[in-house]
Amino acid sequence: MPTSAGGGTLPIEMIMDDGDDVAKLDADGVKQLARNLGADLVGIASAKTLNAFPPDPLWPQTPERISQNCRSVIVIVCRIPVAAFRCKSSVAVQYLDMLVMRRMDKIAYRVAEALEQDGHPSFVTAAQETDWDYKRASYGRLSTRHLGIEAGLGTFGLEVNILTPEFGPRVYLTGVLTDLELEPDQIMTEQVCIGESCSRCLHSCPTNAVKHFGIDKRDCASEAQEFGFMTSLPIWEKFIDGDAETRKQLFKSRDIYGFWQGLLRVVGSFGDCPRCLAVCPVGNDYHAFLTEHQKVIPEKTDDKVAKAKGFKQARKAGDEIDGLNEWNRRWVGPDGYQGIVARQLKEFREMQSERAGASSEDAETAE
Ligand code: SF4
Ligand code: SF4
Repeated sequence: MPTSAGGGTLPIEMIMDDGDDVAKLDADGVKQLARNLGADLVGIASAKTLNAFPPDPLWPQTPERISQNCRSVIVIVCRIPVAAFRCKSSVAVQYLDMLVMRRMDKIAYRVAEALEQDGHPSFVTAAQETDWDYKRASYGRLSTRHLGIEAGLGTFGLEVNILTPEFGPRVYLTGVLTDLELEPDQIMTEQVCIGESCSRCLHSCPTNAVKHFGIDKRDCASEAQEFGFMTSLPIWEKFIDGDAETRKQLFKSRDIYGFWQGLLRVVGSFGDCPRCLAVCPVGNDYHAFLTEHQKVIPEKTDDKVAKAKGFKQARKAGDEIDGLNEWNRRWVGPDGYQGIVARQLKEFREMQSERAGASSEDAETAE
């Protein structure tokens, strides 16, 4: 089965060919196609459901605002290679982010192309673009996190990233909007995030931006978008108001170089801070390669520990919490945390010891 990144230029029929027949483009066929093209996870959300449950009803990020014809959204997920989170600085993760998104967009494009060839007009959403008319922060025409949750691929973390059971929050997502009615996946009702008693994302956040199943986007942006649009504004203001000497100094500054590099390669303009992704203990990628590396969180302070404790008490007391209100609970997992990470870890350890047993048997046979 051809599985080259993004499917290369192989004809769709070859990618769909399972050896006997060319697979049909129903829900299973579309998912198989996306996986064959290199997607790590795939799910399907119904456009009707997405229209009925916008992340914020006052600012509806819904398919119907984009196209009246959209019936289904195919959600494509690509994981960020875990090695990036074992590095001494965030440079590796910043560059890999770009590569992962390029790969993901190519896969989505090929899926849309296959659907169109099969008679179903389809197109890919811009996963990382901001709609300037929306709230004054980075809000896209669709929220890819919510797409993923509605497609049954995970639930919100405390820091409102999507947590997939397979790779935690170390993923990027995009959506293919299609006229084709496909069988949607069921939303998960079990909370994937360990929650307040974990709070590792909160402990690691350099700007203390993590709220109770929420995020302060501006505080987060100061680290995650070091050379993003909002962070560029004060520099331009300084330039406009400055005298000749100030302008000359600014031209030579690291900031201007950073923005130039951001324009050129997107590096630094978003996804700049990997900390809450790196420390989240959800996913077998974490169990396999990050447990030791991310055990200690240097950014952890007494204040952050107290903040997490306050979250725990508030939830226990049934206090009103914005991130857990009736509307948002749908995406957090209404059944609450039931130990999915512990179950996953147990299975992972069993699998590891089976593998170790099998390889020592192989070694004995070879002797
Ligand atoms: S990306 Fe960085 S700054 Fe933003 S919430 Fe995560 S840890 Fe905090
Ligand atoms: S680090 Fe812990 S609290 Fe934060 S999102 Fe991951 S599981 Fe949830």
